[in-house]
Amino acid sequence: MNDPLSESVLRNVLFEQSSDAQFIYNSQGILQCNPAMAKMLEMPDPESLVGRYPYEFSPQFQIDGSLSSEKSQRIETWVRQHGKHRFDWLFRRVSGDEFVCEVTLTRVRLGDEDAIVGVWREVTDRRIEQEELRRAQTRLQHALRGGDVGLWDWNLATNEVFYSDQWHRQLGETPGTLSEYVDWESRVHPDDLPTAIQRVKTLLASTNSEYESSFRMRHASGVYRWILARGQVFRDPSGQPTRLLGVHLDVTAQKEHEQRLSKDLHLSEVMLQTLESTLKVTSLEGLSTIVCQQARRLCSAEIAGIDLCNASGGNAANGKHLIHGRSYSTKYAEYPATTLFPKTAGGADQVEGNAVEGMGAESESAEHPDDIALCDFFTSLDQPVLSLTADQLQSHPIGSTLCSSTPHRPPLRGLLVCLLSDGDGQTLGAIWLSDKDEGDFDDEDQSILRQLAYIVSTLIVRLNTQVELRRQTELLDESNEELKQFAYVASHDLQQPLRAISNYAEFINEDYGEVLGEEGRRYLQLQIAAAKRMKKLIDDLLQYSRVSRDDAEFTLVNMDEVVDEAMRRLEVSIEETGAVVRHEGLPTVRGIESRLCQLMQNLIGNAIKYGDPSRSPVITISASEQPEYWLFVVEDNGIGIEPKFRLEVFQVFRRLHDGSKIEGTGIGLSLCKRIVQRHGGEIWVEASPEGGSRFCFQITK
Ligand code: ADP
Repeated sequence: MNDPLSESVLRNVLFEQSSDAQFIYNSQGILQCNPAMAKMLEMPDPESLVGRYPYEFSPQFQIDGSLSSEKSQRIETWVRQHGKHRFDWLFRRVSGDEFVCEVTLTRVRLGDEDAIVGVWREVTDRRIEQEELRRAQTRLQHALRGGDVGLWDWNLATNEVFYSDQWHRQLGETPGTLSEYVDWESRVHPDDLPTAIQRVKTLLASTNSEYESSFRMRHASGVYRWILARGQVFRDPSGQPTRLLGVHLDVTAQKEHEQRLSKDLHLSEVMLQTLESTLKVTSLEGLSTIVCQQARRLCSAEIAGIDLCNASGGNAANGKHLIHGRSYSTKYAEYPATTLFPKTAGGADQVEGNAVEGMGAESESAEHPDDIALCDFFTSLDQPVLSLTADQLQSHPIGSTLCSSTPHRPPLRGLLVCLLSDGDGQTLGAIWLSDKDEGDFDDEDQSILRQLAYIVSTLIVRLNTQVELRRQTELLDESNEELKQFAYVASHDLQQPLRAISNYAEFINEDYGEVLGEEGRRYLQLQIAAAKRMKKLIDDLLQYSRVSRDDAEFTLVNMDEVVDEAMRRLEVSIEETGAVVRHEGLPTVRGIESRLCQLMQNLIGNAIKYGDPSRSPVITISASEQPEYWLFVVEDNGIGIEPKFRLEVFQVFRRLHDGSKIEGTGIGLSLCKRIVQRHGGEIWVEASPEGGSRFCFQITK
């Protein structure tokens, strides 16, 4: 029976058929090799390799950069001494291709000489994969470092954690020095730790695998950095978490930016609220009170104040300041009455429902000796904002006086002051803060105070304007009322004596006309005419002053009927001049019928009176609807009005014609204007296309 593992079978299977190159060589070179070796090296047959040395097929340098001949000698020496060695080696085929083999060399005894049996297994693919892996790792490392991403890998069973080099660097630690869970825990900010731990616990107890948490961690320098940790839980087949792996990102800059933004947002909201509440304020005291309180709250200061220049507009550089508002905290309860208002302002706070802490009113005096020092200090300011620490204020040549208390105010500890300006370079006063709760005033406080100063300045200007406007309006109303009274009384009371003059002149003319002679009669006629003109003037004036006193009810008025009535009143002149008045389809409006009739009568009457002598007057009255008004147009073909007089003609007593030629008082159009205004509209005159005038007026719908 054949031995299944006979030498020839073994040789065939293990040597001839093997895909690994196998050979034996000694000092005379290769003694024997298998076909796989010839194939690997692209040689025609195994015999052609006999007598050659394996390292002949190596490139000059190996992958690690070592010289092939030297390295192979060292290896051979090693094998002869130790019997066996395995390593990777770079070879080159006849075609020039390079390939990597895992080489195993074993020392054998051949007769009385040592030989070496070699086996090459081509591992080029494996090496390529390894190389790619290495490159990918390098890339990852660069990316992690460049992106400042730290890696961590927590073995939940052993509590060992792999912290990447970058993780260490993020916290200022030497790479490779930390490896335990406690290294993380001991660095998390005590305020953030409970939440951070709870988050991990909740995650591990749940079926979720995504992890995200942010917390502060202590840097080696002692400062805390904001870290965003993101990762994933790995579980065993039974669902037990085994590993938590993730990244660390240093998000301190973003966090700070976020905090700044939300702070800014909060500040803007508060500013807006301040603005809203101050908009309702009607007095400088109320304004100062609100703003001082806000300033104290926003900058955590115990004292806030607003010192204003004289309302007359004295400049800070030379004018005296009046104190309008002080807001002390309850910490200074012993200084209760600290709001000093100028007498004219009335003293009382006019803000609805506004309780002012530690503020009172002292209406007796507008200034207080204590404030002079403060104001002198402001006067010396040559910049819009000034911030002084407590020490700086102490050593300030003028400011130092503010550091000691007076019966009316506490000592000032540090000072932040911002000048108030009206935008045209005029200083209105100053807003200031003192006694910050902690530390000194910083840039943020300055920016807040600047914004408040801007609000206060704008509102002061507005309030001053409003006060001035109110004063002017009151004055105007007063004088208007007086004027109306005068016009009414004068015209009313003048009627009676004038009627007497006129009547007696008529009697004299009738009874004594013969005696007076021709000249006397002429004078008398002139007197009668003058008295008539005066009567007309008084009548018109009376009408004029009555319009604004008129409290008649508005009713629905048909304007076609109004025009018909006006024409009836003008019957004589229409007949005399042969005037044609056209109107049709005029609307019904809301108004005072008698006034609207007067309006139409005046306009039509003027159109006839100022007609062109060469043609008969033609007057067209039309109306059109506008969103809020009815627009009426009274158009004539008369002599027209020069553009430069088109505004003036509506003034009282303004006439463009000599009274001796065309009769009139110059009141008609101003009366029209009043009537139209009484109906919520305006009146104006344009040129009509035919050279005449075109009077337009609106009546509110
Ligand atoms: P009066 O007619 O009593 O002079 P008004 O106030 O009615 O006063 O008119 C003022 C002036 O406007 C008139 O003196 C006249 O010169 C001018 N005027 C008014 N209406 C017309 C018109 N339709 N055409 C030309 N001029 C006019």
